[in-house]
Amino acid sequence: MLPIAFIESLQGVKGFHRESFIAAHEQHVPVTSIRFNPFKIKLLQQIPFEEIRLEKIPWTVDGWYLKERPSFTFDPFLHGGAYYVQEASSMFIEQILQQTIPAPNQEMVLDISAAPGGKATLLSGYFKNGLVVANEVIKLRDAILIENVIKWGADNIVVTNNDPQHFQRLPHFFDVVLVDAPCSGSGLFRKDTDAIAEWSLVNVYTCSVKQQKIIRDTISVLKPGGLFIYSTCSYSMEEDEAIVDWMVNEYALEPVRIPLQPNWGIVEVQTLQHAAWGYRFFPDQVKGEGFFVAVFRKKQENLIPEFRQESSLTIANHKDAAMIAEWLQLPENYRIFLQENAFRAIQSTHWQPLQQLSKHLYIKKAGIALGNLKGKDFVPSHELALSLLPITAMNNVNVDLDTALQYLRKQLPNVPGTKGWNTISYCGLRLGWIKVLPNRINNYYPVEWRILKD
Ligand code: SAM
Repeated sequence: MLPIAFIESLQGVKGFHRESFIAAHEQHVPVTSIRFNPFKIKLLQQIPFEEIRLEKIPWTVDGWYLKERPSFTFDPFLHGGAYYVQEASSMFIEQILQQTIPAPNQEMVLDISAAPGGKATLLSGYFKNGLVVANEVIKLRDAILIENVIKWGADNIVVTNNDPQHFQRLPHFFDVVLVDAPCSGSGLFRKDTDAIAEWSLVNVYTCSVKQQKIIRDTISVLKPGGLFIYSTCSYSMEEDEAIVDWMVNEYALEPVRIPLQPNWGIVEVQTLQHAAWGYRFFPDQVKGEGFFVAVFRKKQENLIPEFRQESSLTIANHKDAAMIAEWLQLPENYRIFLQENAFRAIQSTHWQPLQQLSKHLYIKKAGIALGNLKGKDFVPSHELALSLLPITAMNNVNVDLDTALQYLRKQLPNVPGTKGWNTISYCGLRLGWIKVLPNRINNYYPVEWRILKD
């Protein structure tokens, strides 16, 4: 049951209809949606569209509703990063980008609260030639973010683990900033009933203070003319419209209006003080969960001087780089670098901004981990198999569904690999490595990611 204080607190909010809102929570019809990985979708040889009976999410290019919730655990496409399971309302970020930056071109993008990675992977797919910094302050939540980014496979996401205030060292560095803020979570009550018990007006207030601090810490990193997107999964005005008015009061921000199609069911609101636009998603009107988003452009402001420090990344020495490049036959536009003794590759265009970032932030993952040199042998990393790098020099074995699932369980499938390292693929989607030895096959799927369910 929804808390009375919660329902009372929403009286007067535009688009809130008490009866239908309560009914939508009581007769919850689960909505499951996925967003395809635009980098990998073209690699797939077959997608059983008919079987899963997909329906397009109208404000997206790659987002689809599923007829029912499948057992994702047993789908190799999920493990290979062919799609991300994401709530439909939050994919509206893509529509905002289509309308505000229709022709993206090497933008620097910050997602300050990125775990588990839903919006960071969306941003990576939209800004294909840009660089997305996916930051997560809570260390424990970094692991799931990194796992999702590795499965996504693109080399245009840098994962950092910093407090938002550390970003003030990078003034005017980003073209786009997303604050998908920690919030009281009422928008997810239908999916996460435990959140109902945790809800309180005090928590709404605590969250609004936290949200203001995150915005205060990140506003200076945005370039003049840049786009600031603020979102929550809360219905409370204290975390939504009131924050928007506070932002317009405090900072040189111009609210941006996003035209809507009436059949989407999204409610456009305007704030009390500045008539700034915001977009509300109510589950009785939209096929999705509760969400709020507002968009701003930054006006001119004076540049704050940057302080200098050394980068923690170094270019790999010529001999090692040549040896690795020979092993992998990497495309020429890649730079091989060393981070904490691991060889990694990133597109040359991202190298300079990455060095800048590494001077000020704790980089947890950048580019694609290639592997390690062990004597004359090269031991490839799992990340490499899941990446978009062509790695044409390595052998590949395409397997059927049963064999793919055995592999993902870290069992030892009997496959006709070629002696040495082989990637295993399902429908053309790489899942990981095996090593074929004279008398056995070793499965290199990461033990911590293996399927445990029967
Ligand atoms: N953007 C993510 C996505 O689409 O998958 C979801 C982000 S979730 C709504 C909010 C995130 O804020 C959580 O990952 C949480 O760990 C993080 N967070 C919590 N406290 C924070 C703080 N003080 N500063 C920045 N982020 C914080």
